[in-house]
Amino acid sequence: MHVGWAALDWLFPPSCVSCQKAGVDFCDECKASLQIIEGSVCPLCGIPYQGQGLCVFCRQSPPAFDGVRSWALYEDALRKAIHGLKYYSRLSLSLPLGEMLADLFAQQGWQVDLVTAVPVSGVRRRERGYNQSLMIARAFHRLTGIPLKERALLRLRHTASQVGLTLEQRIANAADAFAAQHALCEGKTVLVIDDVCTSSATLRACAQALKDAGALRVYGLTVARAGFMREGLLTLADELPVLP
Ligand SMILES: [Zn+2]
Ligand SMILES: [Zn+2]
Repeated sequence: MHVGWAALDWLFPPSCVSCQKAGVDFCDECKASLQIIEGSVCPLCGIPYQGQGLCVFCRQSPPAFDGVRSWALYEDALRKAIHGLKYYSRLSLSLPLGEMLADLFAQQGWQVDLVTAVPVSGVRRRERGYNQSLMIARAFHRLTGIPLKERALLRLRHTASQVGLTLEQRIANAADAFAAQHALCEGKTVLVIDDVCTSSATLRACAQALKDAGALRVYGLTVARAGFMREGLLTLADELPVLP
């Protein structure tokens, strides 16, 4: 994989996906411009909010996962990097994004047995040819040495776009969309990687499938967080508040 990318770099020298600076896929200045999520977050789902204890979503609908954290807000340079990986086949961007998750993982103190990625539907894989979250999980695996089980989670069906849905609608939309492999997950602590998390509805559905398959604990890491809490409402990075 590295050799392949090196050859591509020689043929097509990279430029920063965000500012077009020559020589790198994602330059240090653009990485430094990201709005890293630190400070007050829900201890369970990791959504940024100003408050004590669990956020209103986790209190009203306790998730099956044991913790989710995200590296930075889904804005500007990070949005361009994820779009580059997801829609423009810039697969080498999985390396800097995987590095962010390896750093984030090191901060958590979680003990995990294996890592996997949120699977995309067959429709998306045929359109794109790859699963962007799996590309990030592979980079994460190479950096941390944590065993990668690519098929621990399976997607049973395509889910409709979550845009404009409330949390409850998002949870219903993602429910039963996934199944997990008993043989890989039984008695294990599983880390699930995704590119972007908004309301955590997808990770809730993945965690439920993993626990149904016997997983002991489930954690989630995403590169970007597209939603935050403002005055009790789920607010998207560039949309109006969504009524819970
Ligand atoms: Zn840049
Ligand atoms: Zn929460």
